[in-house]
Amino acid sequence: MEKNFLDKFKGCLIGVAIGDTLGRPFEGKLREKIRSKFEFFEDFLWKNKKKFSSYTDDTQLTLHLAEALIKGGGFNMEYLIKEFVKWLEDPPIGPGYGCLTSIKKLKYGISWQKAASKSGGNGTLMRVSPIGLFYCNDLEKLLESADAQSLLTHSHPAATAGARMMAKAVSYLTYQSIESGLDVDDFLDSIIVTTLNSQKAEWREFSEGVDLLRNNLDLTIESGLIKFSQLGVKSPYFIEQYLGKAFVHPYALSTMICSLFMFLKKYTSLEECVFELVTAGGDTDTVGAIGGALLGTYYGYSNIPDELLSFIKNRNYIIDVAERLYEGFQKRYL
Ligand SMILES: [Mg+2]
Repeated sequence: MEKNFLDKFKGCLIGVAIGDTLGRPFEGKLREKIRSKFEFFEDFLWKNKKKFSSYTDDTQLTLHLAEALIKGGGFNMEYLIKEFVKWLEDPPIGPGYGCLTSIKKLKYGISWQKAASKSGGNGTLMRVSPIGLFYCNDLEKLLESADAQSLLTHSHPAATAGARMMAKAVSYLTYQSIESGLDVDDFLDSIIVTTLNSQKAEWREFSEGVDLLRNNLDLTIESGLIKFSQLGVKSPYFIEQYLGKAFVHPYALSTMICSLFMFLKKYTSLEECVFELVTAGGDTDTVGAIGGALLGTYYGYSNIPDELLSFIKNRNYIIDVAERLYEGFQKRYL
């Protein structure tokens, strides 16, 4: 059992990096444009291998969050602030507005309550997976920490909702195995409770989004993405500009539901699923990072093909972080 957990921890963090790295070159493009160029995953990997040179802010912040959990022996806001400020020196790769502006304020000593942006973007759910791992058997701490790490940079309730739902999804998958398969309804039941019956309308939108997804799992990937892409998008410009298009907007709700949808449509084939995620259109690196975390946790590191691992920058460091995170978890919970 212990060996299995370690494999899940490593798979999750490497999964984030794989999806982020492979999605990065296609950020901001429509799915139909990307897919028209590549018919098969092998073809996609071969033609783009030089472009897969690095991951982005999604992986960077995930690793910093993991480091904060390791150093603090669990969630601690002060450790997290220190780690996020360190990220500014990395330097940030393709950062989102919500994270960058608020973390710059933290650097200059502004309190996190004042530093947080009002963004409801996907920046806090894309980095939350280490909390799903570390607190995989402690739901109360998982939700409390997922919320806190989100509020540090994003004060909008949609960001918190996405973070707690994503953390719960990762924690659920640490207990599953490809040998026994996935009970999709049970998985959805387990994540929906993180936002169900909330006083906050923005949280309830997440539970409703999961129900909508559950009732539409028979749609093709293209049709599903068209249906779910605009969830939570309020800007009339975006709605009009991308109506009827598969293009995942960088909002928490759109990104969470679209990533979950592709994961559930294709989780039985790791390669096919990665291909769908990183060519989803729109915020492809973040969709890749989120779906990659889910896939990597479900499959475990030992089941990830070498070819995909070969694209990952700083792979040994990422494995080292996963091992130290696991040691911290082991010390506290096993
Ligand atoms: Mg990114």
